[in-house]
Amino acid sequence: MTTQTQSAHIIDGVELSRKLREEVTARTQTLKARGITPGLAVVLVGENPASQVYVRNKVKGCQDCGFHSVLEQYDAGMTEAELLIRIAALNADPAIHGILVQLPVPAHINANKVIEAISPLKDVDGFHIASAGALVTGMRGFWPCTPYGCMKMLESISYDLRGKHAVVIGRSNIVGKPMALMLLQKNATVTICHSATKDLKAFTLQADVIVAAVGKRNLVTADMVKPGAVVLDVGMNRNDEGKLCGDVNFEGVRQVAGHITPVPGGVGPMTITMLLVNTLEAAERAAK
Ligand code: NAP
Repeated sequence: MTTQTQSAHIIDGVELSRKLREEVTARTQTLKARGITPGLAVVLVGENPASQVYVRNKVKGCQDCGFHSVLEQYDAGMTEAELLIRIAALNADPAIHGILVQLPVPAHINANKVIEAISPLKDVDGFHIASAGALVTGMRGFWPCTPYGCMKMLESISYDLRGKHAVVIGRSNIVGKPMALMLLQKNATVTICHSATKDLKAFTLQADVIVAAVGKRNLVTADMVKPGAVVLDVGMNRNDEGKLCGDVNFEGVRQVAGHITPVPGGVGPMTITMLLVNTLEAAERAAK
């Protein structure tokens, strides 16, 4: 799953996603033979153009793997109460195994209330407090898709995290914090850095694994990386030419790192793939 470059091996998220989706499609066929089709409901409120692209890609990913998918689009005027009623209906719908409300929701809707309304059994985004609690305690739940994808990327290079020092930059509920917990679960020694961290470089230079999840281009430069380290770039930013780029200075860091993920074509494609994995898993659990 890796290709040789000038120095670092590039972990190819497109190729790894393709392989994982093949596995998802095969498992889906097995489930369908038992009369169960994995079903994902994607709910979008408002006309955010980026969100519209994301939900279309999610629905297409479902179709490609043979899932049943429902896209519910509502205008920005939908009330919180109306949205909660829709979620309750989807919770009760046996054809739906996963529910995803695309964030952000309009300001008049409380996103936390919406996430908590989703049944934990259908929380394929892994944002529900029950999923977060399950991750903290090592119990079965759903892992948030982006950090889960990062773990799959480490798995794809057979990276043994035991005793390694992992530095996660960013502490959001959807990426940084769950990422740190997943690395901890695999016996890494984990440091979480954030905007109040003093001397970020002092930490990253000690890291065997760096996960950058901030949203600032060129935050991680070659002089901040220990030779041979694995660098996973979650960031999604635009450069001066308007092209997608990550938080890591790819051209510089690839000369120092042992493995690196590109942007685009790295962590990004893995996120939707792990949503499909979680939805299939939800359907398989429901079938048991
Ligand atoms: P977020 O909620 O804005 O969190 C950003 C984190 O970065 C915060 O914890 C913040 O610290 C920290 N931070 C800000 N400036 C920093 C600095 N100078 N040094 C160290 N830490 C700093 O963002 P997010 O939702 O986690 O997303 C992070 C990035 O990943 C974004 O670019 C987003 O677009 C991207 N993303 C990509 C995918 C994907 O599929 N590839 C999925 C999700 C997100 P404080 O907590 O102290 O404010």
